[in-house]
Amino acid sequence: MRLSVIDDDRLAVWAGDTELVDITSLVDAQVDPAERMTALIAGWDELGPRARELQATGPRIPAGAATVRAPQPSPRQIVAAPVNYHRHQQEMGGETGVYRDAKIETIETYVGFVKASSSIVGPDRPIELPFADRRTDYEGELGVVIGRTASCVAEADALDHVFGYVPLLDITLRGAEDRSFRKSFDTFTAIGPWIVTADEVPDPDRLDLELRLNGTVRQHATTADLIYGVRRLVATYSEAMTLGPGDLIATGTPEGVGEIVPGDEIDLTLEAVGHLRMRVAARVPAAAGAAH
Ligand code: MN
Repeated sequence: MRLSVIDDDRLAVWAGDTELVDITSLVDAQVDPAERMTALIAGWDELGPRARELQATGPRIPAGAATVRAPQPSPRQIVAAPVNYHRHQQEMGGETGVYRDAKIETIETYVGFVKASSSIVGPDRPIELPFADRRTDYEGELGVVIGRTASCVAEADALDHVFGYVPLLDITLRGAEDRSFRKSFDTFTAIGPWIVTADEVPDPDRLDLELRLNGTVRQHATTADLIYGVRRLVATYSEAMTLGPGDLIATGTPEGVGEIVPGDEIDLTLEAVGHLRMRVAARVPAAAGAAH
């Protein structure tokens, strides 16, 4: 099943490619609207069959009549894999890399980092670049959505704790600040347009990934080239922190990262998962006090 958040934080399941069915009624009315997807995932053993039933019988909404938003607006945590493809490692360091002459290690050294959960954005809004004079890059990735609570799980059991998958853009400001800080600006974790449930992705470590920038292919790889595959990432991160329903793992990006500027359009396609299209804009400073 493909699950989205639409309009004013409503939950929806896709019925074919062009219609949606509202399934908001499956979660308790007391749940904070921003937490509905987390509640749906946490209750999935019971709610999944009911979602399937509504998908077949509920009133259809034309996709064009809905605003499709980030399918998980409120992950408790976003954990991310640094330098998890060897060829991406090569383009980051060395004589010509993004960080010229720097010795770039791989995930075996860096292991992981966290991104602020407030960095989530969906296809209804642009990625906003905070600085006109600093390089900001796209990174196309497979996103993993946790289902059952995971603490110190073995690799062999890891996929039992995965709810589904989502196309994910890990947007990165280049510079000297700590990696987590540079990747945690508002709108720097783009996901969508839906979460596909894990039953539709038999092997997450064998998926084609393609990223186009303004129509030109810039990243093309397979998740078979991940240094740490999905199972190992879930096992490794759950050893440090308890992962809960709706939490996200960004699995890392392959070679071909590059700069984005306002006006760009990014198309990220993950085989068997989905296609995310995001626009890029300059951040418009909020009027003083507007954020409050
Ligand atoms: Mn990344």
